[in-house]
Amino acid sequence: VRVEEKLYQNRYLVDAGRPHIVVAPHEKPSKELLLLVKLCPAHCYDINGKGQVEVSPDGCLECGTCRVLAEGSGALTWTYPRGGYGILFKFG
Ligand code: SF4
Repeated sequence: VRVEEKLYQNRYLVDAGRPHIVVAPHEKPSKELLLLVKLCPAHCYDINGKGQVEVSPDGCLECGTCRVLAEGSGALTWTYPRGGYGILFKFG
């Protein structure tokens, strides 16, 4: 089974209007933000038409990669979703 097929079995409960990851406003993205476009395993990061990095955290796996890489530089804020929201992993 491919990883993508395994990930497809996960379920998410989106906390509408309360994203748990917010990218700080920027003119040009930092190198950390640009890295996340490639490194986020759920492909939550993308570059918009203005060359800025945006995040759509609805499919976030809560792996923490972006938190470790970019929160320290102030490029984004990261909190766990409220209880009951976010990813629901399926094991087995
Ligand atoms: Fe992507 Fe992981 Fe960051 Fe979620 S925590 S947005 S899956 S890098």
